[in-house]
Amino acid sequence: MKVLKFGGTSVGSPERMKKLFSIIESQPSEKHIIVLSAVSGTTNSLEQIAKNYLKGDKELAITQVQNLYEKYQVFVSELFVSVEGLNDGQNLIDHHFKLLEGLANDLFTQVEERIVLAQGELLSTALFHYYLKEQAISSVLLPALDFMRLDADQEPDYEYMTSKLGGIMKQYSSDTLFITQGYICRNNFGEVDNLRRGGSDYTASLIGAVLLADEIQIWTDIDGFHNNDPRCVSNTKAIEQLSFDEAAELAYFGAKILHPQSVFPAKKFNVPVRLLDTLLPDAKGTLISESTQSDGKIVAIAAKDGITAIRIHSSRMLLAYGFLRRVFEVFERYKVPIDMITTSEVAVSLTIDETIHLEEIVRELEHFGNVDVDSNHSIICVVGDFKTKTHGHATIVTEAVKHIPVRMISYGGSEHNLSILVPEQHKIETLRSLHNRIF
Ligand code: ADP
Ligand code: ASP
Ligand code: MG
Repeated sequence: MKVLKFGGTSVGSPERMKKLFSIIESQPSEKHIIVLSAVSGTTNSLEQIAKNYLKGDKELAITQVQNLYEKYQVFVSELFVSVEGLNDGQNLIDHHFKLLEGLANDLFTQVEERIVLAQGELLSTALFHYYLKEQAISSVLLPALDFMRLDADQEPDYEYMTSKLGGIMKQYSSDTLFITQGYICRNNFGEVDNLRRGGSDYTASLIGAVLLADEIQIWTDIDGFHNNDPRCVSNTKAIEQLSFDEAAELAYFGAKILHPQSVFPAKKFNVPVRLLDTLLPDAKGTLISESTQSDGKIVAIAAKDGITAIRIHSSRMLLAYGFLRRVFEVFERYKVPIDMITTSEVAVSLTIDETIHLEEIVRELEHFGNVDVDSNHSIICVVGDFKTKTHGHATIVTEAVKHIPVRMISYGGSEHNLSILVPEQHKIETLRSLHNRIF
């Protein structure tokens, strides 16, 4: 069994959507599970619509709903040729857009917001299913809301998903082609929820993991995982092979090609992930598995924006034990993850990317000493083989950034990551300078 996920641009136009089946067919497997994102731009529009409903600006929200509806009318008219296909498509979009417009009549809360955000994947998957039907290709449309679930900590509920999806697959044991929605799920209250922006990768990885698929394929608009952010640096190149740990670090630290958490399920169940390009289906792409080719080398660089650094300076830290535990407990109470940390004898600096509880956190940390907060920073993450037998990598990195005001450096946390924290306005310069020096 293979899980194939197609991103927003891969389903971004009727012409693109029509090409998917030939890619699916070319991947030998007994069963294919297709995970689709929303048509590109749709989730952004839905976010705007929900924002305006939340603000109470119903008129603007409805205008935006109508504008999006018009785009889908064109999409339907270009995707289908038969009367039945055109009817299926038209009825489908009428149903979803009536729901979006109807939300103007009721109380609009964050529950409704998440229902709005779910419409993009519900539309794209049903459109593709009807398109296959028009081509006389049989497929099963599986509602992700029936089996994708988060627990009370917003973590995937593996047990539930394994039993639910396993049961569904048994029910359709003679079928071979399945289509489902990326990104959307239910939370532990049973409400419609999602896996955060870019979450379709995470869906594919979770499905591949719980069904122990032979492979998870992420089909996107670039020929694999590049050694640096192609949006900021020119001359980047696709990497043939990455280990799960290397890919996880890069995704977590900002490489947009993969959702930050999407490598963990695949790694947990040892299912290889292949990144492939819909426009160049024969290109090699990147294979993410247990093995790596980095062998003493630096393989890639990524950057994550919106980072806040917090320094706690305390003379009480000197020779004291238990100090860091008390600091960490503050972040734990607010469920705020810490990304980077560096310490000296009298101070500790750490970074967070979630600032909703920043004020409360700072207030509590002030009990321990002086607290400084620096916002608008970027973590630059350099990934490769940094086992202790290798040497010289830190020098290359520090040499490359000698003209940049570096706020923190973290090295030795894992065997494949060296991170530096720089002010956001120096991010691109840092990425380019490291790229020129390393590759
Ligand atoms: P999809 O809609 O298919 O999920 P995304 O836009 O989420 O696609 O991810 C693909 C994009 O990620 C690429 O077009 C590229 O601009 C960006 N990107 C950022 N960092 C990298 C990287 N290291 N390697 C490849 N692509 C990257
Ligand atoms: N449609 C969602 C988004 O735009 C999920 C995804 O594309 O992966 O974020
Ligand atoms: Mg994506």
